[in-house]
Amino acid sequence: MSNKSASSHLNLPIYLDYAATSPVHPQVLEAMSPYFTEMYGNSASLYSLGLQSREAVDNARSAVAKALNASSGEIVFTSGGTESDNMAIRGAAQAKLSRGKHLLTTPIEHHAVLETMERLEHEGFEIEMIPVDCEGMIDLSEVEKRLRPDTTVVSVMHANNEIGTILPISEIGALCRAKGAIFHTDAVQTFGKIPIDVKAMSIDLLSISAHKLQGPKGVGALYVRRGVTMTRFQDGGEQEKGRRGGTLNVPGIVGLGRATELAIANQLSEFERLSILREYFFRRISEDISRTKVNGSRSSRLPMNVHVCIEGVHAETLLLSLDMAGICASAGSACSSGSEDPSHVLKAIGMSSDSARSALRMTIGASTTQIQIDYVVDTLAKAVSDLRKMSASCLT
Ligand code: PLP
Repeated sequence: MSNKSASSHLNLPIYLDYAATSPVHPQVLEAMSPYFTEMYGNSASLYSLGLQSREAVDNARSAVAKALNASSGEIVFTSGGTESDNMAIRGAAQAKLSRGKHLLTTPIEHHAVLETMERLEHEGFEIEMIPVDCEGMIDLSEVEKRLRPDTTVVSVMHANNEIGTILPISEIGALCRAKGAIFHTDAVQTFGKIPIDVKAMSIDLLSISAHKLQGPKGVGALYVRRGVTMTRFQDGGEQEKGRRGGTLNVPGIVGLGRATELAIANQLSEFERLSILREYFFRRISEDISRTKVNGSRSSRLPMNVHVCIEGVHAETLLLSLDMAGICASAGSACSSGSEDPSHVLKAIGMSSDSARSALRMTIGASTTQIQIDYVVDTLAKAVSDLRKMSASCLT
């Protein structure tokens, strides 16, 4: 198919980077829109215009709480996943100094967690890593043996944003609860996509970001279980029960609330649809492209995540070919930062620099169809074959 006819047929570009961000759902935009224009009141103001905003914030708060089986008073709105992670770990660790300074996490966390931990280490906290295996999975006995009487906060992500492995959060939560440690999970990649029940899963703190579930960028939330004490994150006002000073981002919060409602209403059907598409994607890759390897867990995996190494090709070069064909995907190494080192996640699962350079992440979502996947695999197979021929001819 020529590029032109493909583009009219497939509605290019084909977006395969849903783990990075997602387009705002039209119904989310519609819900937010009045709060930029005629309903612009400050949610802290006591006249009707302010009360309208306050009511909209309350509705969003209860939508997020309901999705987690939490209560509205346990939700703090933030500027996104990064802030939620910072607020959770720093706030809980500093509030628990009388118990100790020992914190546990994993080497595959998002930088928002790892850098917060690093900074705390400089401030005198002791940070210990729970090891992961070659699929990014955790052995529960490794958690159990590291939990000490002075362990205050344990932070383990619900699912990894690069390789898609889903971690055994309920079991880790139960271990932490039994030992009296606060359990935080970064659920940025799972909220709205996989059922989460903070009570059943013994979660104390949980981070959310709106832009991963067709909500706006720059807004998120932190679930804080009633009874968990935290130091104040940001001075400047009594908003969010004094936990985070600052005027609330009313349109953004309304967007997060609506995105949550839509994601939860479609959660089960989208989980099934995307799981089927993901398996189809893997099958087509393995049939049409030789010497590929799936990274991450096959059995405990985000339905949206396809992460593969394609031997003998440089993923960054492949991304250019895909981009020229109207396909947006992402590479597995940290080349964008000027280094060709594997990302910290690929390093942690023991991947060599060579393999990491050939790693491609394609994350599917609401707009993805089987016809798109066929086009992507056809394009990928041709690009891989061309690149392999080129590198073979360079060697002769
Ligand atoms: N945590 C995880 C696992 C993520 O994937 C991301 C975003 O990529 C974040 C945290 C940061 O979220 P935000 O972009 O809302 O700051």
